[in-house]
Amino acid sequence: MLESAPVGRSFHTVMEGSMGIIRDHIPPFEFSVDVAVVGAGACGLTAALAARDAGREVLVLERDARPWGSTSMSLGAVCGVGTAAQRAAGIEDDPQSFYDDVMAKTEGRADPALTRLIARESGPTLDWLTGHHAVPLLLDFKWTGLGHSRPRLHIPPGRNGEELLGLLQNACGRAGAEIMTEARVTDLYADADDRVLGLRIERPGGVVEHLGCGAVVLATCGFGGNHAMVAANIPEMANAKYFGHEGNQGDGILWGQALGAAVGDMTAYQGLGTLADPQQIVVPHPLLIEGGFLANAEGRRFTHELANISGMCVPVLAQPGGIAWVVFDGRRHDACVVHSVEQRQLVEVGALRRGDTWAELEQACRVPASAARLAG
Ligand SMILES: Cc1cc2nc3c(=O)[nH]c(=O)nc-3n(C[C@H](O)[C@H](O)[C@H](O)COP(=O)(O)OP(=O)(O)OC[C@H]3O[C@@H](n4cnc5c(N)ncnc54)[C@H](O)[C@@H]3O)c2cc1C
Repeated sequence: MLESAPVGRSFHTVMEGSMGIIRDHIPPFEFSVDVAVVGAGACGLTAALAARDAGREVLVLERDARPWGSTSMSLGAVCGVGTAAQRAAGIEDDPQSFYDDVMAKTEGRADPALTRLIARESGPTLDWLTGHHAVPLLLDFKWTGLGHSRPRLHIPPGRNGEELLGLLQNACGRAGAEIMTEARVTDLYADADDRVLGLRIERPGGVVEHLGCGAVVLATCGFGGNHAMVAANIPEMANAKYFGHEGNQGDGILWGQALGAAVGDMTAYQGLGTLADPQQIVVPHPLLIEGGFLANAEGRRFTHELANISGMCVPVLAQPGGIAWVVFDGRRHDACVVHSVEQRQLVEVGALRRGDTWAELEQACRVPASAARLAG
């Protein structure tokens, strides 16, 4: 049996509020902590755990009623080099190989110092999360290739980002890192030397609170939900559909810039081309990795599916109507549906089209007869 799922544009836009640094008329702080973390995604919660391990009192501020973030929308997969899970699977890995892979894939554009840092620290960090904070992360063999010379992705048992975030929240609970939800940080209070002294927090009902802190961690993710920032930094994506968390307004970046920090890679983005349209479910990439292909509305294959999975939206958007079909056979579907929440969701919402022959599939997808047969 042959199957396919429709995919389309991958960015949309949301805009809100203005962020600032307040240096004058700083109000008294109602309460203070050693470390304030802004944002309860995977980054913020991991930072909170590290601060607790260092013996600091920590409060995580999260604007949503329930931590969700882009983390929950993702696969929950994290790269790690030289982990215990790799060793247990007999996989030899080392920071230099990771560095070489990243530099090759990015054609030398990745920041060398940052790449070396991630290469060195990713493995120990994952081992610390699994070993010390009981956040189980299993080595994944479904996402191989794509530039990595050996399996490096580590993923929670249920294979989704919501689970990863839940595991991290539980770990924070055990470690004594508190999370305050419905707490949107709107401004930072800083002294004349740009040292952050505290935060202004908006709570439900218009209540405003002021928190003093010894240090602040800005873990508010990127700026994909902020149309003005996307248009200014990534003009080619200004009118594309955004499929990340709407809380990604670039707050941390704007505060950092206002405090004099430099920014880098502002033009970088992950542009998936396999977002089911209109269902808004990511069609699993293992379907493509394991031999499926993309065909446009005319039934023609138009790109090498594995050349740049994170930039796939560019060739997809260039197709007629800005859409494409992910085409795969029943065997690949059966294998995928076992491990992929998204594939099960696509089935549940009736997003897949089926045919026992090419002709049936062409009819189901309404592509011109015989075209898809040329695609492969
Ligand atoms: C569909 C999809 C697929 C992805 N696939 C991959 C992949 O294959 N590989 C990969 O490495 N990454 C992938 N990612 C990206 C990855 O999920 C993110 O980079 C990562 O989860 C970011 O974590 P974070 O903690 O920085 O941000 P988030 O999880 O977004 O958390 C940030 C939090 O900060 C909160 N916040 C923001 N501003 C404020 C404020 N002013 N006050 C209080 N709280 C605030 C937000 O509400 C949010 O909860 C994918 C993302 C998506 C959406």
